[in-house]
Amino acid sequence: MATDLTLALVNGDPLIKTKFKLYRSIGKEEIKAANKVLKSGNLSQFIGARGVDFLGGPMVKKFEKKWAKKFGVKHAISVNSNTSGLMAAIGSLNVEPGDEILLSPWTMSADVAAILNWNCIPVFVDINSLDFNLDPSKILDKVTDRTKAVLVTDIFGTPAQMGRIKAFLKDRPDIKIISDSAQAPWAYDIRQSLAGTNSDIGVYSLNYHKHIHTGEGGMIVTNDDYLAERMRMIRNHAESVVNANGPFNNMIGYNFRMGEIEAAIGIQQLKKLEPLVKRRQEIARLLYDGIISKHNYLQQVSFSGKFSSFYVFPIVYNDSITGVSRSLYVKALRAEGLDCVVEGYQNIHRLPGLVNKQAYGNNNFPWSLTENGKNIKYGKGTCPVAEDMHDNKFIYIAMCKYEFTDKEVQKTIDVFNKIDYNMDVLRKFK
Ligand SMILES: *Cc1c(COP(=O)(O)O)cnc(C)c1O
Repeated sequence: MATDLTLALVNGDPLIKTKFKLYRSIGKEEIKAANKVLKSGNLSQFIGARGVDFLGGPMVKKFEKKWAKKFGVKHAISVNSNTSGLMAAIGSLNVEPGDEILLSPWTMSADVAAILNWNCIPVFVDINSLDFNLDPSKILDKVTDRTKAVLVTDIFGTPAQMGRIKAFLKDRPDIKIISDSAQAPWAYDIRQSLAGTNSDIGVYSLNYHKHIHTGEGGMIVTNDDYLAERMRMIRNHAESVVNANGPFNNMIGYNFRMGEIEAAIGIQQLKKLEPLVKRRQEIARLLYDGIISKHNYLQQVSFSGKFSSFYVFPIVYNDSITGVSRSLYVKALRAEGLDCVVEGYQNIHRLPGLVNKQAYGNNNFPWSLTENGKNIKYGKGTCPVAEDMHDNKFIYIAMCKYEFTDKEVQKTIDVFNKIDYNMDVLRKFK
């Protein structure tokens, strides 16, 4: 039977008729582990007061120990989300209200929330169009005497250029680096260091749509004893400072604690991380060879099947080569049943709360605290590369959402080929 090459967009037969299998990492092992905790009746052992239970129950402790060992770090601190982890991380730095924290516009709103939570001011550094992470060469333009930290997101699972970021900051050792590695567990950079482990603090998400998960959850890593201690305080109410030794008399604590069931599930999930990322990299290699290297109007400059953990498979689309707008191109792909393709990403610097400088209340707090804060601008035009990518060029395949069997990978490639074959039709499409 010959394949119908008429575009589904113009009433042809869609190439994909069965929806792709959704990614699901929870199996027998997790069910067994969760049941065991349930039967024990001990669903959490955290106590706010100083003592052994200040650090949680047996599963929480075991999960953290295993994570620290696997990632080669001194401290792994479990939390109930990546967002909580970022809040603990920033709080551990002893920030002053009005301090500035640099970040990328291509991240999640959680990063902005974590910064504003401590009444610090988010300052955006535009992305670079190679790996879509914060552009190291633009950092110094944004650094002031109030800069306290850089929050570096390893977006799509591609590690940021940490070596270059550190090089640009070499004269400012007071500026700490936090990695938001929510999407990048087990991704590693050119020098073989795991994403999240080569900055002062790294944070991973264990939310259900990330690589591995515990439903909701997160993990913080650091090699710094002092920061680790402060983050453990913030995680668990910080009331135990009353009996603590050391400089912990200026802490606000929360309840960011992970439960025993989540931790027990996490221990099982952690075992699956490495093979899972390897498989994603294998899929990415197939997609790269089948799609990116075949069509000259598609690009993925940063491609290295080895380094990224491919939460997302990023693509830059060049409409000046095809003469077909990105939105029509993506519409044609999706009409074939390729639900995993999405156009654009995110421009966090355009959040209304930032543009209007009203995070909460109506008095422009915390921007009203400093001259820098009063002068800073957000919104359209302030991160031109991110905006151009989002508005015109960027496409992605939502890798993390689907299983991607070999057959589905081939189907994906076939759809891209079918659209390519029909580019003339699309050029005339009204
Ligand atoms: C998912 C995600 C978060 C938030 O993680 P939660 O665990 O849901 O709080 C933060 N940053 C990035 C880059 C993410 O992808």
